[in-house]
Amino acid sequence: MDHPQTPPASFDPLRAMAQARHEFGEHGGVNLSIEASTTFTVMAATMMPRIFHGEGGPFSNTAGPTGGCYLYGRHFNPTVFTFGRMLAAMESTEAGYATSSGIAAIASTLLQLCKKDDRIVAADVLYGGTFALLKDYLPERTGIETTFVDVMDLAAVRSALRAIGAKVLYVESMANPTLLVCDLPKLAAIAHECGAQFVVDNTFSPLLLTPARHGADVVLHSATKFLSGASDVIAGAVCGRRELIASMMDLHTGSLMLLGPVMDPKIAHELTLRLPHLGIRMQEHGRRAMAYALRLREIGAAVVYPGLPDHPQHALLRSLSNPGYGFGGLLTIDLQSLERANRFMEILQNEHSFGFMAVSLGYFDTLMSSSASSTSSELGDDELLRAGISKGLVRMSVGLTGTLEQRLQQLEDAYARSR
Ligand code: PLP
Repeated sequence: MDHPQTPPASFDPLRAMAQARHEFGEHGGVNLSIEASTTFTVMAATMMPRIFHGEGGPFSNTAGPTGGCYLYGRHFNPTVFTFGRMLAAMESTEAGYATSSGIAAIASTLLQLCKKDDRIVAADVLYGGTFALLKDYLPERTGIETTFVDVMDLAAVRSALRAIGAKVLYVESMANPTLLVCDLPKLAAIAHECGAQFVVDNTFSPLLLTPARHGADVVLHSATKFLSGASDVIAGAVCGRRELIASMMDLHTGSLMLLGPVMDPKIAHELTLRLPHLGIRMQEHGRRAMAYALRLREIGAAVVYPGLPDHPQHALLRSLSNPGYGFGGLLTIDLQSLERANRFMEILQNEHSFGFMAVSLGYFDTLMSSSASSTSSELGDDELLRAGISKGLVRMSVGLTGTLEQRLQQLEDAYARSR
């Protein structure tokens, strides 16, 4: 059964972020100050026990954006809190908070939403680390078990959710590395109909997709990637309802507070300086990725890019995405064998300085990796096959350096010579 939804009103994350941004530095600085304190004073001794009971924290002051009292650096920090507000504006959620890594955001969210022996339904194509967390780590240590399904098959998702009474439906909006695009509104409706929370990792598609506008309850990021843009910090974020973020920071029951993977305020400060140009970067990543995809297609390469009209979810992505941010900075090329994939990447890196053979994405230079033998190596042969990740698949995160024409020629040369 289909669940038609009213299309969300048009949303522009840049507009929302611009409104959330400004907070002056301590002396009127144009940049936010870094609150590098691990502990915070109160002006009345009676305030301390109130904070321990969840009162008077930064969410409690509805009059001002960052009012309320702070307590301790592993609890809310003002600089991280402000960064979290920017992320929440970007993702159109009530609240957000930043974590020490993307996997910390994922693990602590799932541990907050699920209790011992609860069940999760997840996409069968996911970042390898998330896959390992769900497949082995969580069941072995917490009894939280995951059923993996092809989330393009909505009927299979519904029956898996129903069969196990799952608490969470977990997907990546654009899957790593196959670049399948999820039908977010339909998956959200199915999750809600089955009483599950819909959790979406939006690492691959910041700005272009806003999963919360399509029904996601929680939106996660590895801020290590596009949000940083410089491959210099490991960072993550959780965006969702205020109640969820507050529960994760609860002094007695919160996964962020008790496991401690919060972001350092110096890193939060760094990242607040990167968000204002995320829009320009995503547009340029997308413009170049589209040009690479078209050229690769022209020379006969097996390229997958969500911006190409024959991508299976191209029309869906067009209908879900915020206009003006393109189709993302990632593409894949299937070079048929690992040997050819390796030759292709070596020519590009060692002869042309086209980019780097390195995992990760969202960097200002191009990053290339063979997914099956790197970021998806947690998957066994059968799982790789099921996920459609061949041994010759190269994932490319398209960078911003060099001229476009120079890069296109290098790409063509490496493709021809890697044969
Ligand atoms: N989510 C996705 C889609 C990723 O690709 C990655 C890392 O590659 C992560 C989460 C984990 O992020 P981090 O490395 O910041 O912990």
